[in-house]
Amino acid sequence: MIEGIRFRDELAASVGRWAYECCHCIVKMGTGGVSISYECAACGNTNLRFIHTLENIDTGRQIEVGIECAALLVSPDDCDLPRLAENETRRKERWRREKYHTPGRCTTTVDDLMNRGKL
Ligand SMILES: [Zn+2]
Repeated sequence: MIEGIRFRDELAASVGRWAYECCHCIVKMGTGGVSISYECAACGNTNLRFIHTLENIDTGRQIEVGIECAALLVSPDDCDLPRLAENETRRKERWRREKYHTPGRCTTTVDDLMNRGKL
């Protein structure tokens, strides 16, 4: 457990019971940067730029959390996924922002990582 992260009680009991789904971020143009921020469902951190979606193995419930919480909530076998997916999403974000100049959503799923040979 990384010091400094405090899960909400309901989530503390479900550590390791989450499947990694995807990482995404929203690119907005002409606003001088990213103005949207999200709140982590696990620790309440509100400064998220990359959002990680997890699905509970037992209930099918989905939550959106930050990278640190994602790495802690998934099973230990999957703890690298949030970092890999975020790196990939960051790359897509840069393309969209600097090359295509289009706003929108950049998403990386586990399948994307497999297709790119990252897993
Ligand atoms: Zn968090």
